[in-house]
Amino acid sequence: MDWYYGDAGRQIGPIDEASFDALVGAGVIRDDTLVWRPGLGSWQKYQTVRPVPSLPPPLIAADGSAVRFCSECGKPYPPDDLAAFGTSLVCAACKPAFTQKMREGLQPAGAMRYAGFWIRFVAVIVDGVALYIVGLIFFAIAMIFFRIDWANVGRSQADLMQLLALEGVLVLCNVIVSAAYETWMLGRFGATAGKMACSLLVVKSDGSKISYQRALGRHFAKYLSSFTLAIGYIMAGIDEEKRSLHDRICDTRVIKK
Ligand SMILES: [Zn+2]
Repeated sequence: MDWYYGDAGRQIGPIDEASFDALVGAGVIRDDTLVWRPGLGSWQKYQTVRPVPSLPPPLIAADGSAVRFCSECGKPYPPDDLAAFGTSLVCAACKPAFTQKMREGLQPAGAMRYAGFWIRFVAVIVDGVALYIVGLIFFAIAMIFFRIDWANVGRSQADLMQLLALEGVLVLCNVIVSAAYETWMLGRFGATAGKMACSLLVVKSDGSKISYQRALGRHFAKYLSSFTLAIGYIMAGIDEEKRSLHDRICDTRVIKK
């Protein structure tokens, strides 16, 4: 059965039992955290719904004192010295490592879903088509501006220089337009048109929005991904967080909305 809990005035959930236990273990859900699950009339403090761990009664040591055992190191302690996490009792010495372990095994609420290679590939194609159309418009404008006599092109050295100059201008336009396009879209919306069409977002590793500067840096880092025979892109297919080379360089992630 799924749980909900309140965190700083927000409602988080539904989360499954295992994740809920992990959140308790990690100290995210504490005794005074408000929780709810189907069947409960209202939000309750966790301490009132916390399952009572079914533990053996404390052993009585030779000196007559009661002892319980740390579920991590197994050493005996007075019961009050052990902290309860779900059904585990943990000593002060083991607590940091224990909570760390719980955190690592935890899928945080609202966890990011990383977008894989193929969906990103589709998004890149969509953007590529959009930029290609823009490129054609620039080409048309440049043709008019350069007044190339296509019927006699290549007949003279001067024509050739004109063509090279045209090519240079178009390449430069392409670099500027694609950088401006991606920087603006990612900085403003977190996604290019292609990524929007595929419901993808580019975020920082902590899930927050990326700045215009980072978007610009990421754009040029993509050149590296291309220059490596696209291996930089393919890396997204094998990385556990689906990072491409440019995502690694810029500490970004592509996620599904
Ligand atoms: Zn211990």
